[in-house]
Amino acid sequence: MGTAGAARYTVPPCHPRTDQPLQPDRLRMAAMSTDPTDPSREDPIGWYVHLPFCTTKCGYCDFYSLPTRPDLIPDLVRALNREIEQRDPGRPIRTVFIGGGTPTVLPADALRDIVGPIAERVRRQAGVIEFTCEANPSSADELKLDLLRDLGVNRLSFGAQSFDPAELRVLDRLHDPGHISEAMRLARSAGFDNVNLDLIFGVPGQTVESWLRSLRAAVALSPDHIACYSLMYEEGTALTKQRRLGLVHPVDEDIEAEMFERTEAELVAAGYERYEISNFARPGRQCRHNLIYWRNEEYLGIGPSAVSYLRGVRQKNRADVKAYVDAWGAGNVAGGIVIEREELGREHRARETAVQWLRLADGIDVPAFERRTGFRAGDLFEPALRRHVTGGLLEANATNIRLTPRGRLLANQVMMDFL
Ligand code: SF4
Repeated sequence: MGTAGAARYTVPPCHPRTDQPLQPDRLRMAAMSTDPTDPSREDPIGWYVHLPFCTTKCGYCDFYSLPTRPDLIPDLVRALNREIEQRDPGRPIRTVFIGGGTPTVLPADALRDIVGPIAERVRRQAGVIEFTCEANPSSADELKLDLLRDLGVNRLSFGAQSFDPAELRVLDRLHDPGHISEAMRLARSAGFDNVNLDLIFGVPGQTVESWLRSLRAAVALSPDHIACYSLMYEEGTALTKQRRLGLVHPVDEDIEAEMFERTEAELVAAGYERYEISNFARPGRQCRHNLIYWRNEEYLGIGPSAVSYLRGVRQKNRADVKAYVDAWGAGNVAGGIVIEREELGREHRARETAVQWLRLADGIDVPAFERRTGFRAGDLFEPALRRHVTGGLLEANATNIRLTPRGRLLANQVMMDFL
């Protein structure tokens, strides 16, 4: 909903840990050696549900989102529930993430009618460990947060982005810093003990000092998780057009790099650990849903533009809410709304797995990678390893491959060579 895609830069370095809080999951990941295309595969998956409406469109946003269409909400609720009924693969659910868009712009009854049936599935299972809903500070009122908590949602993710009013205006955000504090207060009083704040750095006009002020203001609210993404100028967005016209000026790359470098020091000193290139968490509060993506595990995507990755097949729903409600209103059929479908070959899956694992502070667990993919990382990535170990962007030994602090600054460059 409010972050800016993959980070171009990241923050070095992280302290080596001996008490990995994710040990049970790491063991589970290591045990996943079966063929992901196996139709009898029954291990748990993540669910993502995309609710595309927002109050207005932010200039930097390239997610599929559009200003709320009240006339379409009843049809959207019906369509989502039909898609859930037809596409539920019947596998155990590990995590649920309600995103968008801004789920909390929907009226409370629509939110209940969408989240309720999913919550019912979650209640029937014992293994769901995380149930997140995204929210905007300006649209998260007491009624909706209480409703979400009552339905079993146990994690909130707020698109805070900045605590500087001028930067929020550049980003077209509708809230002010006071809304963020109030949203955090409401979240805690509704009983949420797992809350994320998204922040963006590299905003035109931002300085290292103003970025640090935002970081410190976020820390002062004691969120359990903080995601720090660099602003991306995505093709087709209003912000990119403004940049081309010279109406906004990107932050100098060296200054942006300094913001990234200072981020980790600030957050580690405040008790957070960087577990992924752009993500920091208090112990035990890593985002389990996003870890499914970063481990290249399986997930079901529901709603317009949502992507699924199941049994080695990636598919994407059309990013068109009208076409989506029409297709499901006509009684349809997953096929009518799928615009991309790709069956990934064994090597393709292995390469994507490596790229995702590189995002994590733990990097690539070489023996686990071989058990899961059937490929020896040292052989498959020999040219990339030689190049980037020599160049100081990767460190590698017999059991682990990970980005160096400098490599995290240039992560995309390294990852390209693994694909
Ligand atoms: S709130 Fe803004 S950034 Fe978030 S999804 Fe809506 S338009 Fe995009």
